[in-house]
Amino acid sequence: MHKPLAFFIAAFAACGISAADLELPDLGNPEKRIFIGDKARNIGMGVEGQLRQRGELLEQPEITQYLRELGNRLAAYAPAPSGYHFFVIDSPAINAFATSGGYIGINSGLIAMTDNEDQLAGVIAHEIGHVNQSHIARSIANAEKYGWMQAISLLAGIAVSVAADSASGAQATIAGTQAYIQEKKLEYSRAHEQQADDVAVKVLQKAGYDATQMATFFEKLMINGSHPPEFLMTHPLPENRADRQRSKAQKHTAARNPLDYQLAKTAIQRYSRHKLRDYRPDNAFAEQYRQVLEAQRRNDQAVLPTMLAALPPEKHPLFARLHGEQALLNGDPVQAEAVLENAWKRWKNNENLIMPYARTLIANGKAAEAEKLLQGQIARDPGAVQYYDLYGDLLERQRRRGEQLLLTAKYYALIGDYKLAAEQVGRALKDPTLPANERQKARTLQKRYELLQEQDEK
Ligand SMILES: [Zn+2]
Repeated sequence: MHKPLAFFIAAFAACGISAADLELPDLGNPEKRIFIGDKARNIGMGVEGQLRQRGELLEQPEITQYLRELGNRLAAYAPAPSGYHFFVIDSPAINAFATSGGYIGINSGLIAMTDNEDQLAGVIAHEIGHVNQSHIARSIANAEKYGWMQAISLLAGIAVSVAADSASGAQATIAGTQAYIQEKKLEYSRAHEQQADDVAVKVLQKAGYDATQMATFFEKLMINGSHPPEFLMTHPLPENRADRQRSKAQKHTAARNPLDYQLAKTAIQRYSRHKLRDYRPDNAFAEQYRQVLEAQRRNDQAVLPTMLAALPPEKHPLFARLHGEQALLNGDPVQAEAVLENAWKRWKNNENLIMPYARTLIANGKAAEAEKLLQGQIARDPGAVQYYDLYGDLLERQRRRGEQLLLTAKYYALIGDYKLAAEQVGRALKDPTLPANERQKARTLQKRYELLQEQDEK
């Protein structure tokens, strides 16, 4: 169950990133949020980290930006002490789950199965209900019983075993998963399911969604499935669930099918490793976007410029991203910067813009601006290791070895190896390039990692 650390390092090295290439800024000290006084969040982040290491996540910003916007919009009506963090697991299994610290995972297969945004909102609101009603406390109790990394492995293992669906072995997998979940006593009780549904209906109504769509979705799953979908298994069905949801959701509103939802579903079709339910958007822009992604997949440079012309960069950050990337590819970073700078002003902090904009700024010799951009994103989402790579490159080019070592340390801490993390900080402290203002922070960090290492060994 517990994967040895060598696995993580090997997986990491396989991405072509050497540990020395990594650096994380000390901006706002994200560790305060990660590692101090918030065990629940620490576990949630660890689960997400393990799924990332196993290659189970879909981290394309085209998908995560949308899911996080939708999730945060709903979560505003059911706050939780640790806040919320939403991520996408690339699995055809129809499932969603909440783990510690408000970390909520939604499978790509589930998103593909929804017919409109209200249905997806219904599933997310249900998971929010579990978090809001503190149904996840058990996983923290488990952490104390098993030790941190074991508990995180256990929870990630459940997510993966639920995700491990295949046509031939589906029944066996489902049976195995069910037994596993029961053995670990991690299923929710029926009472919890009802509470989560009740919270969900309130959240959906406040956010202006049609809560009856949640019932429609659950019904559809039961009718369509040749076997019971996992979502219904790990979330047992209260009797007359659909009726209860309907009667609670008195006011009907029209189901929503906005452009953002259509674009995200299109991106899921394009980037998932799995064969998911077919999808053709009905919005003309989204259909054009789908065709552009197909042309990109074929690397059809002859048609791309003309096709892109039909997707105005002012219309959507995804379109601005495409225009910026295309200009970079054409060797025109000045044009790329013009497009992306405009988009950044309009949609500040949008995840879709960060990588292409940072690359463009670097190409135009504006390393300090690129650094600020990457620092900002890492501070907002400290677990997002995909940004460390580019940032590490940037520091390497500037020969800022001390800061690079600190970033490596923070990466090791994120994957739970506090021993290596503390060692890297030690090397950073000995490095003459480490700026004076980073030294005190590095010493604090070293103490913290050493403390966490001791806790881990107990
Ligand atoms: Zn549930």
